[in-house]
Formats: sequence, structure tokens, C-alpha cells
Amino acid sequence: MQIAPNTVASLAYVLTNTQGETLDQADVHHPFVYLHGAHNIIPGLENALTGKQKGDELDVTIPPEDAYGLKDEALQQQVPRSMFAGADEEHIVPGAQFHAQTNAGMQTIVITAVEGDTITIDGNHPLAGETLNFKVTVLDVRAATKDELSHGHAHGPGGHHHH
Ligand code: ZN
Repeated sequence: MQIAPNTVASLAYVLTNTQGETLDQADVHHPFVYLHGAHNIIPGLENALTGKQKGDELDVTIPPEDAYGLKDEALQQQVPRSMFAGADEEHIVPGAQFHAQTNAGMQTIVITAVEGDTITIDGNHPLAGETLNFKVTVLDVRAATKDELSHGHAHGPGGHHHH
């Protein structure tokens, strides 16, 4: 069976950036399982996997436009410390992450700089602007179940669990 819309694929993969650093991975014992064609993974990877089947190995380089997008300068801004009223002082440091409700939905905001009462925050995805390399092995491909199709995601080991 080939990977196509309405199939569920299990993958082992290693994700590296252009510096060759490993950012994420999944192996045979803990595969990544997803519903194809439901925009559950980045477009560049989804496109590269279409038509592949069990046992196929691929090495794909994905530009930011087909991954997590380019960095949007508008999402980087300076805000007064008073915006973080209620947060512990020790949490207001570069690298700290907050969740915030924005026009685009729930977003992760990262503090990138702290200068006195001026805090620089960045709402870009941590991988925005990055060219990504995926070394992928297709471990399994199966038809999605009715439930998976109506939920829009894969179930079972490696997928979503409902109670
Ligand atoms: Zn579900």
C-alpha cells in the first residue's frame, strides 16, 4: 500500500538542521504515526512521502517555506515587564516560553532578551526560518479507520489515545 490521503503511515526519522544538529527523532520502537493528507505534518514532508511504501527510505531537505515558515519580524516585539505581572521573576529570562492567546490561536511565545524593564518576545515557531533535513524510513502504511478520518488524526500506538 502506498502513502496517500486517508492512509496512516508509521515512520522512523531523524530531523537535523543545516548545522547537522539532531532536533528530533523517532525510531522503530517509538515510531511516529500520522494520518496522511490531513495537514498533521509540515507540507514539505507530507509531499515527499506521498506514494512511498513500507521499506522506502528517503532523505529530504525542506526549505522554511514548506516547513515552519519564514521568521516574521512582526512577531518579534518589545513589551514592558508589566505584561508579565503575576509571573515569577525567575521565569522572566531569555529562553523562557509562555503560551498566549493571539488572533492566530494559541501560540508559544519565547523571551529572547531581557533588558531592565524591556522584554523582547518572539512568537515565531522555534523552527521558523530553518531549512530542515529529514532522513525517513517508512515502517508501515495502512488504511485509516472511520474514527481516524472523522477525528483527523491517527489512533493507536504512536497516535492519539482517547479515554
Ligand atoms: Zn481521535
